[in-house]
Amino acid sequence: MGKYVIAGNWKMNKLPSETYDYIKEVVEATKGAECEVVCCTPYVCLSEAVKAAEGTHVSIGAENLHFEDKGAFTGEVSADMLVDLGVKYVIMGHSERREYNNETDETVNLKAKKALSKGLIPIVCCGESLEQREAGITMDWIAIQIKKAFAGIDAADAKKVIVAYEPIWAIGTGKTATDDQAEEVCAGIRALLADLYDDATAKEITIQYGGSMNAKNAAGLLAKPNIDGGLIGGASLVAADFAVITGAAK
Ligand code: PEP
Repeated sequence: MGKYVIAGNWKMNKLPSETYDYIKEVVEATKGAECEVVCCTPYVCLSEAVKAAEGTHVSIGAENLHFEDKGAFTGEVSADMLVDLGVKYVIMGHSERREYNNETDETVNLKAKKALSKGLIPIVCCGESLEQREAGITMDWIAIQIKKAFAGIDAADAKKVIVAYEPIWAIGTGKTATDDQAEEVCAGIRALLADLYDDATAKEITIQYGGSMNAKNAAGLLAKPNIDGGLIGGASLVAADFAVITGAAK
């Protein structure tokens, strides 16, 4: 299916002064990985992260961006600023940003289009709440999120996007979706992308699972045919754990 990509999402963890050494640790620990290895860091850590990852197999991502090019947006960071630093990936639509920072399907779509136009790879997050899962509307909800995120994006650009399926009830809770639950939704997302584009395009799109993926459960999840990688929060903060996950992605 899509290219395997394991991406760490540091969230609001680690200091700029810790970043250079930690990225070097990740580089060392993940040597020989057969997947793309990405660390998404807070804005203030990015320049140290890029410096430490330069010339290695590790790529650096941001955890957000603004969809406008420039102007009066106090506190925001543009795609050009990220590109200028040497950042390659950018997360958008994370459930924490949807909950606390007014991220919507519309802003996700604007951010995805802006990132693509500047050569950044968007990691578009989607996922259902526990209430939605229990009400049996998981796939309906995700279909809305995916259709809106990909609106106006052509097939050539769609192939560059990474979709991260992250059930909200599994993020940071220690409750992982079972391998079959995760595969069912990732397969559903792939079928939806085939409807929106075509089979060949859908097969090339990397679909990650995220939600308490760790060194113990990664191999089972990553063995599923429609799970092409992971978006990893907590376990990306310990290089040895992160390396077990990258090692399982083959
Ligand atoms: C995330 O933040 O994207 C995530 C999946 O977090 P965790 O792995 O800690 O559940």
